[in-house]
Amino acid sequence: MSQCTDPVVGDILSSWRYDISGSSPAVRGDLEEHFAECRQCRNRLRLHRTIDVTLIGVATLSILAFLLAIAVIHQVEPLRTWAIALPMHRLSFAVTLQEIAVAGLFASVVAWLLIALMTPAPVFLSEVASAQARVMRNRGPRKIA
Ligand SMILES: [Zn+2]
Repeated sequence: MSQCTDPVVGDILSSWRYDISGSSPAVRGDLEEHFAECRQCRNRLRLHRTIDVTLIGVATLSILAFLLAIAVIHQVEPLRTWAIALPMHRLSFAVTLQEIAVAGLFASVVAWLLIALMTPAPVFLSEVASAQARVMRNRGPRKIA
C-alpha cells in the first residue's frame, strides 16, 4: 500500500473526509495539487465519494420504493390493519399498511436530506454533471453521413 506524500496534509484531508468543496480557492489549489501527486489520498477521495454517492442512491431508491408501495397499497388494500403489540411496554395499537409505508417514506426522505446535507455528494454529483455537459458541448453535433 502506498504512503501519503505529505502526512500533515493527508491528516487534514482525512479529518475532512477528503471533501475540499468548502475550502477557499487558494487552499483548494494546494489540496488539488496534493491529490494530483498523492496516490493514497486520491484513492481515499474516490472511496469516500463512492460511499457518499452510493448512500444517496440507496436513499433515493428507498424513497421511490416507498412511493411505489404507497401507490400499490392504495389500489389494493388501503384499510387492512396490522395489530402491533409490545407486551413489555404494555402497548398495543393497530396500523394500516398505508401508514407503515408513509412512515417508511418519511424516514427515507429524512435519511436522504441528512446524506445531502452532511456529505459532499450533491456538490460532487453536480460537478460530474457539469463536466459531462462540457464534454457533450465540446463534442458538438454529429455529422450525418
Ligand atoms: Zn496524501
